[in-house]
Amino acid sequence: MSDPVELRDVVKTYDLGGGIRVDALRGIDLTIKRGEFISIMGPSGCGKTTLLNIIGGLDSPTDGQVIIDGINIARMGEGELARIRREKIGFVFQFFNLVPLLTALENVQIPMIFTGRLPNAEIKKRAIELLHLVGLEHRLHHRPAQMSGGEQQRVAIARALANEPSIILADEPTGNVDQETGWKIVRLIKGLNETLGQTCIIVTHDPAIAQVSERILYMIDGRIISEPPRLTINPSSNILADERRQMLLAELRWLEASIKSLERRKTKLSQESYAEAKIGYEKQLERLKKAIQESYEKRR
Ligand code: ADP
Ligand code: MG
Repeated sequence: MSDPVELRDVVKTYDLGGGIRVDALRGIDLTIKRGEFISIMGPSGCGKTTLLNIIGGLDSPTDGQVIIDGINIARMGEGELARIRREKIGFVFQFFNLVPLLTALENVQIPMIFTGRLPNAEIKKRAIELLHLVGLEHRLHHRPAQMSGGEQQRVAIARALANEPSIILADEPTGNVDQETGWKIVRLIKGLNETLGQTCIIVTHDPAIAQVSERILYMIDGRIISEPPRLTINPSSNILADERRQMLLAELRWLEASIKSLERRKTKLSQESYAEAKIGYEKQLERLKKAIQESYEKRR
């Protein structure tokens, strides 16, 4: 059987007009095995979302091959891409993206209704089962606004699973909930990955969360820069403070390199995008330095 995800020299350039181009991906080669649980880390603006969207057929590359379950989707039109997304991909987003006027149960039914493979009664039954699976059997008739962030994200996970996708893509799924809830969400996705065997790719800023994955990919400035050696750590145990700190320090080095690269590209960017990127980096830098400081204080 072919690998679920294979990227060959994938390039994405956004043309902003007026001669300004942004190289969001600069030649990505990547093979992901069936059932793998992977996290992608890297400073904001390095191309994580672009990469995920291209794998999931939400966006098309400027160049290169995007092979999903043996099919190259790089040159597909919107109609064909929509079919690939429906049948093969489950998306989980940072801001949940649930339909506000629909209940949890209805939100989970939507993808199955679009696919039209099952009769309505079966669709409803499956949606209830999925909400059970994510521990929300008591929230079937709640609308998004009547649920907590963590609950909404669990509905989104149930929805992502609706059409039995072979690949789950999650873009900062814990970015909008507190740390404790974030952990629960990641454990849920990890548990589903172990029992249902889907291939999972998660973008996260939290090094501790990245630790539960089998492989961490680091991106910087549109490239995957390396695959650092796997830390031997039991996912169910507490993350060792030293290892967590190592991850934070590594992230800090990448962030500093990104800032340098931003300065190099300064003249190519509009003043606005430059300022926006710089503020983003500075915020991250502050957050990281604080986290590193705390990790030293905890040790004492
Ligand atoms: P990340 O998810 O790592 O923060 P993104 O993939 O969102 O990064 O963005 C990568 C780069 O591409 C950034 O410089 C961003 O400004 C640019 N970019 C992303 N989407 C677009 C778009 N639709 N149009 C123009 N530039 C974009
Ligand atoms: Mg992003």
